[in-house]
Order: sequence, then structure tokens, then C-alpha cells
Amino acid sequence: MFNSNNFVKLKEYKKNLTLTMAEDRKVRVRFAPSPTGPLHIGGVRTALYNFLYAKKHGGDFILRIEDTDQTRYIEGAESYISEALNWCGITWDEGPLKGGPYAPYRQSDRKEIYHKHVAMLLEKGHAYYAFDTSEELEEMRKQIEREKSGNPQYDAVTRKKMRNSLTLSDEETKRLLESGKPYVVRALIPENEEVAVNDIIRGRLKVNTSTLDDKVLMKADGLPTYHLANVVDDYLMAISHVIRGEEWLPSAPLHVLLYRFFGWEDQMPEFAHLPLILKPDGKGKLSKRDGERLGFPVFPLKWKDPETGEVSSGYRESGYFPEAFVNTLALLGWNPGTEQEIFSEKELIQEFSLEKVSKAGANFNPDKAKWFNHQYLLRKSNEEVANQLHNIVRDKGHDIEPEKLTRIVALVKDRVNFVNELWDQISFFFEPPKSFDEKIVKKKWKEQTPSILEKLTGVFSATDPFTAENIDNALKSFMEKNDVGAGIIMIGLRICMVGEAKGPDIKEVMEILGREEVIERINYALRTIN
Ligand code: GLU
Repeated sequence: MFNSNNFVKLKEYKKNLTLTMAEDRKVRVRFAPSPTGPLHIGGVRTALYNFLYAKKHGGDFILRIEDTDQTRYIEGAESYISEALNWCGITWDEGPLKGGPYAPYRQSDRKEIYHKHVAMLLEKGHAYYAFDTSEELEEMRKQIEREKSGNPQYDAVTRKKMRNSLTLSDEETKRLLESGKPYVVRALIPENEEVAVNDIIRGRLKVNTSTLDDKVLMKADGLPTYHLANVVDDYLMAISHVIRGEEWLPSAPLHVLLYRFFGWEDQMPEFAHLPLILKPDGKGKLSKRDGERLGFPVFPLKWKDPETGEVSSGYRESGYFPEAFVNTLALLGWNPGTEQEIFSEKELIQEFSLEKVSKAGANFNPDKAKWFNHQYLLRKSNEEVANQLHNIVRDKGHDIEPEKLTRIVALVKDRVNFVNELWDQISFFFEPPKSFDEKIVKKKWKEQTPSILEKLTGVFSATDPFTAENIDNALKSFMEKNDVGAGIIMIGLRICMVGEAKGPDIKEVMEILGREEVIERINYALRTIN
């Protein structure tokens, strides 16, 4: 249905757009998730772009819950959505619990409104009742497939052969409606007309209405379908821009037609369909399974499926900073046009524009997400990181003065991507080595090491105050006097302090451990290693 021929050149289109766009229209955008499960990162990005657009233009950002498909409703999904957005700092001005001038914001609370609007379409002759059973619909599809006589859809050709208020007499229609038999209301799509969708990202898309089907607007359970509820609400909530995922692009012509049917064309929002987020190798849409297969979360928060009990990991629980996660998402599809990669929320709001969102799908790179977290970790103050790390230290059964932990953080922060990876780097500060890395000992613990270390305990007893600088000076003069190299001393001390060949500057480590502990560790190593 859609191909590049449908688009006029983007530049040309944008020129026209500036001429026709109502300049004075207040920006009001919405994020309209269906509570059918946890929010995928693509959904969070859609919410983010809406939020940034609203904030940039001094507009409103609305959260609307589209829960009219009862068969797909999942318990807990709505609160998950709110919690995820809150964690990301994506705040909304109007929404289900917050309220607002266009309340209610949960579609299941707006049934009456949709009934009224379906009645309007029926009245105007833009919709009709259809009584076909699912067996009859299936038969219609099969027949078309057998005869290869067109698209297996309910459209201008097939509707004439089905049981609906267009083919049945008024009396029969009335009788069926009153009989309580299930029925739906379908859109009466006009034949062979042109419908155009203006998309800020993709240009102008033209479709012939004969390719569209008579979509159901009101289901047999009396609830509206997504299409009807979505358009009615966007209109009633004065939405100026519909910014949503590319998967909704095929629905856009129908939505434009609905605006036409209702006579709301002058209030129609601008459309912007965002590119897909693709698998790391770029081959297809990023799915939950890719995350499991490649070991990264595809959901903002951890999610436990209420039906299967299956647990999916989340960015929050994996230790990502929300700002880093948001920064990662912001650049998945949007290109600021500069080399800048790290953006504060304020900068994102300032720089964001829909014109710089690409049409092409964005490959998700899990390593880049980690890189962003690393960058944010480096930019955090040592105090703040220490504060978060303190909980982990306590969980491990230790305590420490905040100032000391802050100094430790300064030594190791650049070695990790996540706060939760820090414990591995610092555990030796709290737990003296019980055993020593055999390979290193074999290679680096030389014959003269014990006697050197023994002498050093004497040197350290006299090093006062026991600071990294004084330790450094003391070691230097010891080396000169005793004619020993730095290598043997440093690795010897490291083995004693850490138990293996890792860790930050050993003089800094010793200062933090304190003289007594340093001497004790040396003595323990001398007793243990032979
Ligand atoms: N309820 C739709 C969804 O779940 C909203 C699509 C739109 O923004 O129009 O994504």
C-alpha cells in the first residue's frame, strides 16, 4: 500500500506545510499506550519525543490510556507505564490519576462519548451496521482467496455481498438490532478517492481509498476500536501533533478520513511517525527475544508477567541511571546534527526537533547504552556515587564513613559502567584477602620479597602521617637505600593488600586502609605465602 511513490519530495512538502500550519495552535501532544503489557523501550522513546516536543514548545503533554481492547488487557500494565515514565523523569500535565480539563483520560471511562460519536457517523452515512458472523467473514476471505478476485478485506466490493445495513432492508436491520444479535459498526470508506497524510518526518503520503477496508469502529462488545477512540479523543483533547511509532502509519489514512467524516479537518493534528528501533544487527524490529538472546533489557523496568510468571529484566534494575537511559533513547532516531552525544534533559528540550528525526530505523546498540551509563557515572560527584554504593556496602554487611567511601569511589569510578559493578572493585577494602592469586604469587613473589616487605613494615611504622604522598616518599628513599626496583615492591604490596594483581594506585589504597591494617595485611601474607 505504501511505497516511496506515495511521497512527494520532503522539501516541497515542508514548504507547503509552513504555509498551511496554524501558527497559533497550542502544542498539545499525547502518549497513548495500551495497557497490554510492559512498555517496550520503543514506547518509552515515543513518550520521550512527545514530552520533549511539548516542553520545547511550551505545550502540554498528555498521558492517555487506550484500554478499549479488553481481550488484551493485562493487570498491572497501566501502573507499570506510569512508574516507568516517572523513573525516566517524563512527567505529564494531564492523565488518568492527575486529571485535567479533558478528563477522563482512560478510554474505558469514556464509553458514552464514543457511542455518541459512532451515532454521529451512522447518522451522516459514514458508517454502517454489519451483522456478519466470524464464520461468514472467514468464508468471504476464503472465497476471495480461492477466486483470487481481490484483497480479502471488507471493502466497496465485498460489502455488497455481506449482511449489513447497506445490503439488508431497513426493517431487517431494525429487527436484527432489536433481536440482540451481535453486530459491529464499520466505517463506510468511499470508493476511489484520494486521501493524503502529511507526515512531518516522512512527507506527504497519498493513498487511494479503494485500497482501504471498512474498518470496524465499534465492536460487538459495545466498545470502540482503537481507530475510533483514538481519533475522537485526539480531537476532543485538542491534540495538535500525533507523534507515534511507524507501525501506526498504515492506520493514518483511515484516521484522516475519520476527521473528514466528522467534519473536523481544520482541527486535524499534524502527524509524525517515528522510525522503528531495530535489532543490534539492523535486521528487523527489536524484540523481547533479542534482549534475552543477547543479554540486555528491552524494558525500562523489571516486569513479571502476571499470567506466566516469566520475569523480564529492566534498565532500572540492571543499574542504569535514568538520565543515561533517556539519553540513549533520545539518540535512537533523532540526530542533533552535531557531534554532541551527552545531553541533559534541558539540552534535549532545547535541541529536539521532529525535523531531525530520521525516517530510517535506528539500530539498538546495547554497548552504547552501557557507554552512556559510564559517561553519566563519570559525571556524577563522588559523593553521590558513594551514597548509592553505601547501600551495597551495607548489604554486604559492612559499614564505612561516607567521606572514606567517597575517596574510594574517586579511585575506581572510571573502571566500571555501573554502580553495582563497584563492589567487585572495592571489596578488598572491607574484606582482607584470605588467599592469594596463585599465578601472580608464582610469577611475582620473588625470593627477596618477604625480607623487603618485612623491612617495609618498619618503614611504614615510622611514616607519619600515613598519607599516599608520605608513603610514596618513604618508598622512594627505601628503594634508593636498599637498591631494589619499584616493580618487586609494588606488586608485593598489591598482593598483600588486594590478594591479586588488580586495584587502583596502591599508595592511595594504603592510605585509605590505614597504617595498622597495612602492616597487618603484610604480616598475614608473610605468614601465609611460602
Ligand atoms: N494505543 C496505541 C498504542 O498502543 C496508540 C497509538 C497512537 O499513538 O495513536 O500504541
